[in-house]
Amino acid sequence: MILIDGSFGEGGGQILRSSLALSLITGKPFQIENIRAGRKKPGLMRQHLTAVNAAVEIGDADVSGNAIGSQFLTFSPKAINAGTYDFKVGTAGSTTLVLQTILPALLIADKSSEITLEGGTHNPFAPPFSFLEKAFVPIINKMGPNITLDLQRPGFYPAGGGCFTVQIQPKAKLDRIDLIERGDVVKRSAKAYVAYLPEKIADRELRVIRNKLLWDMKETEIIKVRDSNGPGNIVTVEIASENITELFTGFGMKGVPAGKVPLEMVKEIREYLAAGVPVARHLADQLMIPMAMAGGGTFRTLPLTLHSTTNIEILKKFLDIQVDVNKLENNAYEVNIA
Ligand code: AMP
Repeated sequence: MILIDGSFGEGGGQILRSSLALSLITGKPFQIENIRAGRKKPGLMRQHLTAVNAAVEIGDADVSGNAIGSQFLTFSPKAINAGTYDFKVGTAGSTTLVLQTILPALLIADKSSEITLEGGTHNPFAPPFSFLEKAFVPIINKMGPNITLDLQRPGFYPAGGGCFTVQIQPKAKLDRIDLIERGDVVKRSAKAYVAYLPEKIADRELRVIRNKLLWDMKETEIIKVRDSNGPGNIVTVEIASENITELFTGFGMKGVPAGKVPLEMVKEIREYLAAGVPVARHLADQLMIPMAMAGGGTFRTLPLTLHSTTNIEILKKFLDIQVDVNKLENNAYEVNIA
């Protein structure tokens, strides 16, 4: 039984999700304690519990501790059962993080799957649906599987109620990919989404982006969302380069002036463009499991986040792999998984 201390490193939901994903693909059971111990509301929240229960179903697993607030879990999978599933988070909790937990196993299953996910689709501190669509899924598809995504309805915090489906055609062994060169930027665009909120919010956000990044009017677009359950506002910036597309997000929140929403994102974009690397911070931690499943891979990225360094340690607990991280010039790092 692999023992995991949930308070290690990043100490949040990621340790749990990565452990579940790796347990499903290796068949190795694990026990985790101190789940989200340092967080304001420690233990499993609805979104984490949905991820655990989804992994239990997919893996036909024996489980204990799968209850709201639990800081302890044992998980012992018996199989990978691809198929048709519907997982509801039940709150505005992130559906994309539930997918992050079960997707690796379904990528290498013996048949196709169709997963419907209901809850939040554009949550702060989680990959928004647009990130899956533009950045993450295209890379996974380059590794051999074929994933298609379909957003039925966006779900913003706090109303939730979003829904999307994922169809997965697996590949028994993922192909190795290396992401070394970004190539020239071929397209860039910023979109500001407003649902049941004044359009001037989106207008202000895009003006900040145009001013700070010196972009043209035609590279920015306001999107009025009319089919969500409640109000919401996000700004996404897509940077499509010859070899990779990255997506950056700013999340509008009550009490935060519209002009401030894109500021952090603008900083991230400038840093990404200056470093000349293909992979930005979030994609870095999300690529590690698929690359390890492919038997290895190399990518260049920005300084690793605590999410990434924590993921490396969890990977090493389940798989016999080596991960080397080397600093290059210009705030760039090379991660080599072998
Ligand atoms: P945790 O904080 O442990 O729940 O994990 C958050 C996960 O969401 C990590 O895999 C992050 O890379 C990912 N994530 C957070 N914010 C974003 C974002 N803006 N775009 C893409 N992925 C994100």
